[in-house]
Amino acid sequence: SSTTTTTTTAGGRYDVVRVDLEDGRDYPIYVGSGYDERESGRILRSHVSAKGARVLLVTNDRIAPMYLEKYRRLLSSPSSSSVEGKGGGGIGERTIRVDTLILPDGEENKNLDILTSILDRALELGLDRGCTFVALGGGVIGDMVGFASAIYQRGVDFIQIPTTVMAMVDSSVGGKTGVNHPLGKNMIGSFHQPNCVFVDLDVLDTLPDRELRSGLSEVIKYGLIRDAPFFDWLDANLAALLDRDTDATRYAVRRSCENKAEVVKADEREAGMRATLNLGHTFGHAIENGSGYGTWLHGEAVSIGTAMAATMSEKMGWIDGGLRGRIYNVLERAGLPVRLPVDSPMKVETFEKLMSLDKKVADGRLRLILLKGELGSCVFTGEFDTAALRETIEEFV
Ligand code: NAD
Ligand code: MG
Repeated sequence: SSTTTTTTTAGGRYDVVRVDLEDGRDYPIYVGSGYDERESGRILRSHVSAKGARVLLVTNDRIAPMYLEKYRRLLSSPSSSSVEGKGGGGIGERTIRVDTLILPDGEENKNLDILTSILDRALELGLDRGCTFVALGGGVIGDMVGFASAIYQRGVDFIQIPTTVMAMVDSSVGGKTGVNHPLGKNMIGSFHQPNCVFVDLDVLDTLPDRELRSGLSEVIKYGLIRDAPFFDWLDANLAALLDRDTDATRYAVRRSCENKAEVVKADEREAGMRATLNLGHTFGHAIENGSGYGTWLHGEAVSIGTAMAATMSEKMGWIDGGLRGRIYNVLERAGLPVRLPVDSPMKVETFEKLMSLDKKVADGRLRLILLKGELGSCVFTGEFDTAALRETIEEFV
């Protein structure tokens, strides 16, 4: 039901997933590899705001040496010697001025101070409301630059160029932007959709294995909550994904984006269904916060959280032991953790305290995403057996 087209041009082959939103805010996600620079430059420039010709390209100090110069070049106007393809409609012929900003790497820098430094830079450069912010990086950069673009002069356009699996399959799509607060992750933020998401799978060549696997936990999530055939495909193609096979990776990213796009289209502001994207996240966020910064990557914590949700679902009789076992098997074969180490600081009380801070708590009542029925079905509910929750936590700590 999602609208994906595959484009093959002289400039490369890529899929375009459309995120259908109301009020003309729908946007494309390009998923490809081996792009010709003329083609990727043309695509990117075509999504720079028509209201201006200035770009603030933001990345971090880890990614900058690898990719900043290339994307600065692609976003700037084409050199006079480049030949635009027929039917390009003259797009990209305007001169775009690209300024850059390099932020410190790391989740600990996803905060209001660093956010302010983006706004400072934009003001110092004299950028007006017609400018476009571009996020080049993983989820940390995407969430922060997206939030900066949501509030700069009450909102400017922005483009996502995700460089991690996590960002390609999840954080760059759907318009959730924000920063962390000392009292909680992603507690300050806004909904603000990008003009486009541009995925070049070739950047994954430099992504460490651990980061790749972390991103896979969100890919597996889509299969579990709504797409059984995709879970079966993942089960069969995990080795190819871990080997960074291009066709397998392209399919996994595309299918993940289609799933996310469908959910976001149905429930952009998280009235209900969108919450199911948080399978494993209530447990996972507690693990991330309670284990101390730097212990777990987000996707690793989500993997343990998914194992906990599956265990609790089985305890309640909502899924059978066979499905629970299969979920553990896929997570483990993806190189993801499904339990806490013996020396983990997580205690029953740590879980209880941190889970009560979850954004999905309503009127003091905790709500969880649990699996129910066949593979690919889940529920978002506050109606669960608290004894099963308690037993699950006790089993994991
Ligand atoms: P990240 O942005 O910290 O990137 C992980 C690490 O990989 C960083 O050190 C980064 O510099 C490095 N890196 C990025 N691309 C690279 C590349 N191509 N080659 C080599 N190194 C590279 O982490 P992440 O996992 O991408 O994102 C996690 C963040 O995303 C969290 O803050 C989480 O809250 C957020 N998130 C948001 C949403 C959303 O809907 N907005 C969804 C999921 C996650
Ligand atoms: Mg997540």
